[in-house]
Amino acid sequence: MSDLILCGPCDYADNNKKGEKWCTVCEEGLCADCEKVHKSIKTTRNHRLISIEDYHQIQNISVSLNCEDHDKRFELYCITHDVAVCLGCVPSHHRTCSDVIFLDKADANAKQSTALADLEDTLTLTIQNLEQIIADCDSALEKLENTKYDDCKSEENKLLTRLKNPERDLSNLREQTSQLKSFASDIQLFLGTRQINEAVFKEVESVKETIKCAQNYQMNLTLNPSIMALMNESDQFGKISVKTTTTNLPFKEAKVDQAQIKHRVSDMKNIKNVRLQLKNKFEVNIKGGPIWLTGCTMLPNGNLLIAYGV
Ligand SMILES: [Zn+2]
Ligand SMILES: [Zn+2]
Ligand SMILES: [Zn+2]
Ligand SMILES: [Zn+2]
Repeated sequence: MSDLILCGPCDYADNNKKGEKWCTVCEEGLCADCEKVHKSIKTTRNHRLISIEDYHQIQNISVSLNCEDHDKRFELYCITHDVAVCLGCVPSHHRTCSDVIFLDKADANAKQSTALADLEDTLTLTIQNLEQIIADCDSALEKLENTKYDDCKSEENKLLTRLKNPERDLSNLREQTSQLKSFASDIQLFLGTRQINEAVFKEVESVKETIKCAQNYQMNLTLNPSIMALMNESDQFGKISVKTTTTNLPFKEAKVDQAQIKHRVSDMKNIKNVRLQLKNKFEVNIKGGPIWLTGCTMLPNGNLLIAYGV
């Protein structure tokens, strides 16, 4: 099994035995016999031992106990710079620092330290803040759901991803902090607090940058200037009036229609049926040349009106 922890001291003597406890200071497993020895030796009796199950909780949390620059274990702490340092760091970077102390003096009460409390507060507030911003973005995206503003939707989705990643990372860091607080040694918690704090700072800076670059979309309608001029002259576009006409809907009742057509045809007078009869005769006396009658009509009083041209 990959999560089997061997006893470190027994393994050193080529004797494979299963570890029952984990020493958070020596960072190795201890079988029951070696645990007794560990607790009896003066230099190791105060080492914090945890169960193998608890060790698995912090197994994957990487707290660096060694200085990367000098590949030596952190043994000192510079109060001025608030950093753990190795013996190699002091001459190069902290020669003039007057307050470099042993790490085991600095990490005492790491669980009750202000640095840890500040880190926990920062994580809680930052995650709450991010969750609120993500919820706001989600609801903005919902409003765009059935619209055609694809550019806005894709930008909003990109922004959400850029916010959800740090939110997930910060939640992991909060989980790691809580596990370190419960199971790690003082030195691991002390160093872990500072290393996680550094990671949180980077995440917060990246979120601030993302939010600074986020675009806000506001839609505005600019009316054509000629329409604006028209509106300045008149307080209304126009009036709506209602004109009533027949609809001319193509509705026909075939049988009724045919019957009426027959009726109308029988009523109409055909010119072939008109008989002409001479009723009266009169002369028109106008001096001059010939005249041209251009029209005549019977007036309502019975007089005949004749129009002519000379
Ligand atoms: Zn130990
Ligand atoms: Zn052993
Ligand atoms: Zn160093
Ligand atoms: Zn320093």
